[in-house]
Amino acid sequence: MLYSSTSRLTTHVPLEKAVLKGLADDGGLYMPASVPVLPPAFLESLHQLSLQEIAYTVASAFLQEDVPAQVLKSLVEEVLNFEIPLVKVEKDIYSLELFHGPTMAFKDVGARFMSRLMAYFTRGKNEALKVIVATSGDTGSAVAAGFHQVQGIQVYILYPKGKVSPLQQKQLTTWGDNITAIEVEGTFDDCQRLAKQALADQELNQRHLLTSANSINIARLIPQSFYYFYAYGQLQQQDKPIVFSVPSGNFGNLTGGLLAAAMGLPVHRFIAATNANDVVPQYLQTGVYAPKPSVQTISNAMDVGSPSNYARMEALFSGELEQFRRRIAGYTFTDEETQKTIREVYQRNGYLLDPHGAVAFSGARKLLSQTKEPTIAVFLETAHPAKFREVMEDTLGEAIAIPAKLQRFAEKQEHIVPMQNSFEELKSILSEV
Ligand SMILES: *Cc1c(COP(=O)(O)O)cnc(C)c1O
Repeated sequence: MLYSSTSRLTTHVPLEKAVLKGLADDGGLYMPASVPVLPPAFLESLHQLSLQEIAYTVASAFLQEDVPAQVLKSLVEEVLNFEIPLVKVEKDIYSLELFHGPTMAFKDVGARFMSRLMAYFTRGKNEALKVIVATSGDTGSAVAAGFHQVQGIQVYILYPKGKVSPLQQKQLTTWGDNITAIEVEGTFDDCQRLAKQALADQELNQRHLLTSANSINIARLIPQSFYYFYAYGQLQQQDKPIVFSVPSGNFGNLTGGLLAAAMGLPVHRFIAATNANDVVPQYLQTGVYAPKPSVQTISNAMDVGSPSNYARMEALFSGELEQFRRRIAGYTFTDEETQKTIREVYQRNGYLLDPHGAVAFSGARKLLSQTKEPTIAVFLETAHPAKFREVMEDTLGEAIAIPAKLQRFAEKQEHIVPMQNSFEELKSILSEV
């Protein structure tokens, strides 16, 4: 299968090139040139299939010409070696818990898939692949965990100084080996701009084999469609329309859902649930797409003012506002509303939402309150609440338990490379390490 750029200025490329380049030469993002449609028999039998079985079938539809079946099968099984439970929180609202991977955030799914695919495509090469990733918190740790000690790959993580939680920082900076954590004097948008600039820089590209591990990489997007099928399968026998509420920042997770829908999954609608970084809900409301600087919130992994996957959504909807509106409802919530939701759901349902999942829960509840037809809402619970301990304890006024998986990071030594918001400085770091 071939992949095309959302900017449509370059020719289509094979998967290997799309995965190793990350960003297309024309600055666009790669998308499948045509989205494969899955047979109705598969979609009707989802409830009888395991997560791994579903993931393998969906992955094959994209990758079968590029990766041998046996390799892909064991890759999928290795990537998804943890559960993604669907938990009922209240009537007609379910939590899809995407945080049971090694770093306890949903980005584990995409990062693990991508790291193994990159390792497959670079097997036997004698030059190291340099992977650059900008992170507002969870991406970097998931990518680091996915790539740690993978032979032939060097990883550079750019994160905004003082804008990730203490535990998130530990999860970025304590790996060592082939993982370099770069602390940038700037915002997440600065980090993302620097990463994009490096990937587009001719001189750097002549000297090194460079690639990106951001949600812009197609190898992260594809696996983010798997769990929509899985969740849908568990609810399909209730015979009600199913909506997915996605807590969104760069919109990679939501775009994974749109991909699933384009492959034939009959999702009734999606909810783009955001914090104060509300460019997409604003676009849906006003018809004007106006990226702006990001603002800091308590759901910091969603603090994105200029979501890169907007280009992919636009491509999927042929740039038509009416299609966008039909498929996606946009809601935005303040930090106060999010904290209120966390308290309410904890007290009433005994379920602990993290600040990101709480935004998605709020979106699910809002849509259901405006819908007359019986509808089931699944919200994506994208991180374990303990990753945001300070916010959670401040919100609840009580201590929360920290899982051993996270506690381990807190005890390790940090290794930080400090950097100004400067491309020249990034260039020299990339050449030195
Ligand atoms: C990255 C992240 C998000 C946002 O996902 P996007 O794909 O960037 O929209 C939401 N919640 C958590 C916990 C995240 O780490």
